[in-house]
Amino acid sequence: MSRLQPDYYIPHITGVTLEFLRRHGIRGLILDVDNTLTTHDDPTPHPDIAAWLDGMRQAGVGMMIVSNNTEERVRPFAEILGLPYVADGKKPGTDGMRRAAEKLGGLRPEETAVIGDQIFTDVWGGNRFGALTIMVAPLGPEIVPFIKLKRVAEKLVLRGRKPRKLEEV
Ligand SMILES: [Mg+2]
Repeated sequence: MSRLQPDYYIPHITGVTLEFLRRHGIRGLILDVDNTLTTHDDPTPHPDIAAWLDGMRQAGVGMMIVSNNTEERVRPFAEILGLPYVADGKKPGTDGMRRAAEKLGGLRPEETAVIGDQIFTDVWGGNRFGALTIMVAPLGPEIVPFIKLKRVAEKLVLRGRKPRKLEEV
């Protein structure tokens, strides 16, 4: 499979269930921030996403943020959620993901899932790392012209693939 193709493509991160993680042997989640957990420049998580994170935490699923955004942006957000983080993660480089897997208890890549909204950072990096990759539809409108351009390229890569429900696979 192409390293640009996500293993799963779903509308929203809250579609990821404990049952799904169990079925795939996933013990740790490596989470993107912008447009995955919140919209760009929003300092707080969406309420439904905060509830989802709480559910995962209570079930003992390890979680760590790996974002390409700045320390200034990522740290306050991660602190609100009480999650460890890597800022300036340089995805699709895999160093941040490797650090996350170590921090989450020395997990093997295949025991982790990378969840994010961008093919050329989250999905590509996650596939290179060897994680399960879950692409979510971006939460908010894109404000950065470069990302808008990447969205066009992403549409070509996905070739009209429709988001699929996790339980269908
Ligand atoms: Mg993102």
